[in-house]
Amino acid sequence: MKRINPRLAKLHRSYSVSELADVLGVHKHTVRGWLKKGLLPIDGAKPTLILGSEFQAWWAKQRKAAKRPCAPGQMYCLRCRLPKAPALGMLEYAATNAATGNLKAMCETCGTMMHRRTQMADIPFVMPGLRVERTLAPSSIVERTHPSPNCDEKKDC
Ligand SMILES: [Zn+2]
Repeated sequence: MKRINPRLAKLHRSYSVSELADVLGVHKHTVRGWLKKGLLPIDGAKPTLILGSEFQAWWAKQRKAAKRPCAPGQMYCLRCRLPKAPALGMLEYAATNAATGNLKAMCETCGTMMHRRTQMADIPFVMPGLRVERTLAPSSIVERTHPSPNCDEKKDC
């Protein structure tokens, strides 16, 4: 992801999509993408206007969300670059020793294998409500589950 300095958008100015794109040095399609991802334009303005302060607040929230460790029931997907839930609620656990091991699951969004180190005793807290198949051997989850054929990697994934 491109590095963006959100402070280039002045707090008390409003920007059209292309103005905001120019100020930040991104493509206007990027700004449109942000609007789809929850950046709020000024109510009722046509064409779309975005307040600098609204952009900065939204950007800070996005950054914070990106840094947030995985919540219970989630693992970090390297491809989506987001914490994601396991596809079909399926998990596998490969013990590395009596107490510790690796959880494996497929990303619900893109089907990429996700890994999360955990203590065996913590699994009910890390993945509440999900059934874990404990295995020592490499998992066969790939053969049994197929990623969604509709997953378009150019989308949010
Ligand atoms: Zn993913």
